[in-house]
Amino acid sequence: MQDFCSSEEYNQRPTWDEYFLMLAKLAATRSTCLAFPVGAVIVKNKQVVATGYNGSPSGSAHCTTQGYCYPGLSSCDASKILPSRAVHAEANAIAQAAKYGISTESASIYVTLEPCLSCLKLIISAGIKEVFYETSFNSGEKALVRDSFIKEGLVTINQVQLSEAIATKAAASLLGSTSIST
Ligand SMILES: [Zn+2]
Ligand SMILES: [Zn+2]
Repeated sequence: MQDFCSSEEYNQRPTWDEYFLMLAKLAATRSTCLAFPVGAVIVKNKQVVATGYNGSPSGSAHCTTQGYCYPGLSSCDASKILPSRAVHAEANAIAQAAKYGISTESASIYVTLEPCLSCLKLIISAGIKEVFYETSFNSGEKALVRDSFIKEGLVTINQVQLSEAIATKAAASLLGSTSIST
């Protein structure tokens, strides 16, 4: 009889960081503003308390249905004058927590893209203490401001990555039957 649990790789479980990053990546697939499909997950005591993704304000037309942020644009970030209509994933997750009365005090947030400064300020003011992100975003002056917040002890910011083995296993789970091998 074949021992289907014998493969070391098959039995490998994601770390907590990988687990929450994967959930943030799944949230990003719901993004409706197309410039940056970003997902965010707020975590407290290893429990997900809120999720968010980039998109126009709740109830407003989706960029995906009206043709980018404004009709006639060739992409959401094509206009030099018109501002993006998107509420960022982190802001949406914090707004979701506020809407349902869930405390974000001392929570962590996992994001697929390093938070912009506006979101980072919001994260700090919401009492979120740890940021984990996959892809870097801030540079130059913005990175300096970010680093000053870290230096002040307001927040910690760490880059996290999925291992190839976990990503491969997750992709196979998404593509096929997850719970019963076929
Ligand atoms: Zn847009
Ligand atoms: Zn942002």
